[in-house]
Amino acid sequence: MTGKNYIGFQQLAAGSMTFRTYDPVQDRPNDTLFTEATSDEIEQATFLAEKAFRSYRTTEGSKRAAFLRAIADEILALDEILIQTYMKESGLPQGRAIGERGRTVGQLRMFAELIGDDAWRKPTIDRADPSRTPVPKPDLRKLLIPLGPVVVFGASNFPLAYSTAGGDTASALAAGCPVIVKSHPMHAGTGELVASAVIKAAQAAGMPEGVFSNLNSSGIEVGKLLVMDPKVKAVGFTGSIGGGRALFDLAAQRDEPIPVFAEMGSVNPVIISRGAIKNRSGEIATTYSKSITLGTGQFCTNPGLLLTIDCEGLDEFIQDLGRKTVSVDAHSMLHPNIHSAFQQKGSEVLSQEGSVLVAEYDKPTQNNYAGARIATVSGEHFLRNTKLHQEVFGPFSLVVRCKDEAELVQVIQSLEGQLTGTILAEKEEYTNLAAVIDALQDRVGRIIFNGVPTGVEVCDAMTHGGPYPASTDSRFTAVGNHSILRWVRPFSYQDFPKELLPEVLKEAK
Ligand code: NAP
Repeated sequence: MTGKNYIGFQQLAAGSMTFRTYDPVQDRPNDTLFTEATSDEIEQATFLAEKAFRSYRTTEGSKRAAFLRAIADEILALDEILIQTYMKESGLPQGRAIGERGRTVGQLRMFAELIGDDAWRKPTIDRADPSRTPVPKPDLRKLLIPLGPVVVFGASNFPLAYSTAGGDTASALAAGCPVIVKSHPMHAGTGELVASAVIKAAQAAGMPEGVFSNLNSSGIEVGKLLVMDPKVKAVGFTGSIGGGRALFDLAAQRDEPIPVFAEMGSVNPVIISRGAIKNRSGEIATTYSKSITLGTGQFCTNPGLLLTIDCEGLDEFIQDLGRKTVSVDAHSMLHPNIHSAFQQKGSEVLSQEGSVLVAEYDKPTQNNYAGARIATVSGEHFLRNTKLHQEVFGPFSLVVRCKDEAELVQVIQSLEGQLTGTILAEKEEYTNLAAVIDALQDRVGRIIFNGVPTGVEVCDAMTHGGPYPASTDSRFTAVGNHSILRWVRPFSYQDFPKELLPEVLKEAK
């Protein structure tokens, strides 16, 4: 590990601003000193990306597929050093590191499979009809084409699967767009290692220099300069609402505004019916204590809000959930800053009128370790105070007690946009769920039935996105094959000579 930036195929570090990553388990900085990219290096990376785009955009799908597969192989070849660096920079355990590496490699191979033929580009042919009256019909042929260089902001909570060569990068490279990664400062070492794998693969597969760059930074300037660069044509982001919104606004202020696909905060409401409380209260408390604490609550699909209706057994359920959740051992959070934000936001929710602490992890913990907290509040208080609606990133859930179905629907309608909503209900209640499903559908991108929101399957039918602020454009998913559609635009060829058409549109001309 060098701590340098990858500007195209070169490793450069001309800057004077340096920083280190942090091991939250050992509670000390890691060794490598990373050098923040300078404005000249940023300019060089975007220059190379624009130049690379001219040839990369028309590279055959099969060649880009070979490039993606080579990235996957090179990531696996990094072996133990990647896993150890990931753990030291995130505090996440080895099993998670290996699982996330598998997901990263799986995504790269999935996109390679997708672009093996051009069907994903939706080639569409409307043949000419010279005999049509009163005006002859022209020959029109349409294809999805890549947008241009894409800037990807890595996610703090997915150092591999949603960072350097994660879902955004894999889908943009698959689409034919060069990628410049603004590496996440919390895991810059993991980022550099993965970047080295991408560069090796690009050179071996004969890809143009500039198809990929990886820039270090520990402040917001590098990201801002990248988003403002006229050569950049789209942005992918995963992180906080504040960060995503700032970049979205910046991109909108450019002379040429560009799309920012930001996936941001979510409290993922879970509706628990009276029937579910009556029949399987204990089972739900057990399942949800695990979901709330999974990965120390640091998942974008973490169930932060449980919506219930007053009924017999509800008090017992809430106490049982509290007991079971706080009995799960405390674990390290990703970084001291994430830990302090968790403490501060949880306390802010607890200090609101009507908010009551149900249970709190109370054993001594190491620095940066987070124990779970469960709180409860009435539907009436929740409706009056939007501070109770905010995401507490970590193992925290707020149980809202609504007085009846009408108030429950009102609570759902009052929420901001969410990635997911979950319904736990019994078969005999299905006929009464229409209003809840309607309200939820207006607020979320995916509804889970009788399950947990944590765990996002990577497949064609997955929607990982939702109304703002879950994402900045609810028409697209950030996970699965269809996420490639964020980086392309439709383009039509009218009355083009056959020899000038792309291969896939030449048919029957
Ligand atoms: P973040 O603060 O949004 O930062 C994400 C990336 O965006 C970082 O690389 C950051 O750069 C950059 N950035 C942020 N604001 C920017 C701005 N105004 N202009 C330019 N670049 C900007 O998220 P984070 O560091 O991953 O975590 C902080 C909090 O975000 C967490 O505590 C959590 O609440 C939330 N979060 C939510 C999810 C989710 O899926 N719901 C996932 C991750 C994080 P620098 O760090 O270099 O400044």
